[in-house]
Order: sequence, then structure tokens, then C-alpha cells
Amino acid sequence: MKIIAIGRNYIAHAKELNNPVPGSPVIFMKPDTALLKHNQPFYHPDFSTDIHHEIEIVLKIAKEGKHIDQKFAGNYFEEIGLGVDFTARDIQQNLKEKGLPWELAKGFDNSAPVSEFIAKTEFSDLKNINFNLQINNREVQRGNTKDMIFPFESLISYISKFITLKKGDLIFTGTPEGVGKVNLGDRLIGYIEGKKLLDFEIK
Ligand code: ZN
Repeated sequence: MKIIAIGRNYIAHAKELNNPVPGSPVIFMKPDTALLKHNQPFYHPDFSTDIHHEIEIVLKIAKEGKHIDQKFAGNYFEEIGLGVDFTARDIQQNLKEKGLPWELAKGFDNSAPVSEFIAKTEFSDLKNINFNLQINNREVQRGNTKDMIFPFESLISYISKFITLKKGDLIFTGTPEGVGKVNLGDRLIGYIEGKKLLDFEIK
């Protein structure tokens, strides 16, 4: 499986990092070794002193497809979950300044904690899903899928022009504003529509 992630999909987040609002989705990938499941703790690596949390809605691809038309893109995922796109912001900033790829800042081991997945049919409106992240019982990020610049269908269609999507692939759909540093001992709890899906510690 592969993990495809979207950068700058919420205007307020693009602005907080002084990035322009993109005209087409910003795409990057994480290797399968980035996956962290079952609310296992995240062990803070020593190569960064500025690991940021980015809470994101994650789509699980249900069947193989390429050149998927937006009209049919909704048929390619059945479940959604919650993930954290951990980002070594210090390394990313350095790479961005040099115009270099982001992989080391985004794709390191365990940089993609994901929750269990929920059938999309449990949501009355996929374009109006609230999600949020608390650290040590304080809310740090809150988003709603209605604020996505590129909605789920348009992401699936766009990605599949370039990269064949396969069953089990995950798409991290971008983070709302409020990203920030995590610290040893932090407890991260993530919710979709009030349902607790993520609950893990930084060690
Ligand atoms: Zn992200």
C-alpha cells in the first residue's frame, strides 16, 4: 500500500505557513513504514526539534482505479478515518528554502498515525464533517471538510491521473490551521464528529 498526502488544502493553514493557495492539489507521499496504528505511542526522533502535528481526514481506497472521473470518484472509497501527518518542520523549512523534495521531513518512520476506519455511510454529509485534535485536553486544531479547497472527489480524480490508486491505499486530505510542535509526554486525542478515534502519547 501507499500513503498519498495533500498539502495546503485548507486556506487558513496555507496562510499560517506563508504558502500561496494552490491552483491544483499539492501532492506528496509517505512510505508504508510511516504507518503507526492502534494508538501506539509515537517515539520522538532525535533528528528534529520541531515535529508538528497535522490532524487530517484520511480516505481508504476501496478498489483499483486510474483516470477516475470526478463523477465516479466517490465509488473508490468506502471508509474514512483520522490521521496525523507528522512533519519535521525544521527539516521541511530547510528543504523548502533549497527547493528540495520534502520526503525526509514527511516520510520518516511512524510519521503517519492512523485511526480505525468508519464506513462513510455513517456520515450524513461527507462535505460537512467536523474533526479536531486535542493535546493534553486543550483543543489545538479544528476543521470541517466543507473548508477543503479540493474536496475528496477532486483529489481522487486528480491523483489518479498520475498514480494508479489501489485497494488499501490511504489519502491524507490536508490539515486545517493550528499546526504546532509536539513535546515528550503529550497526549494527542483526535475526534471525528465527537467520536474519539485517536488517543496516543508522544514518548
Ligand atoms: Zn499534512
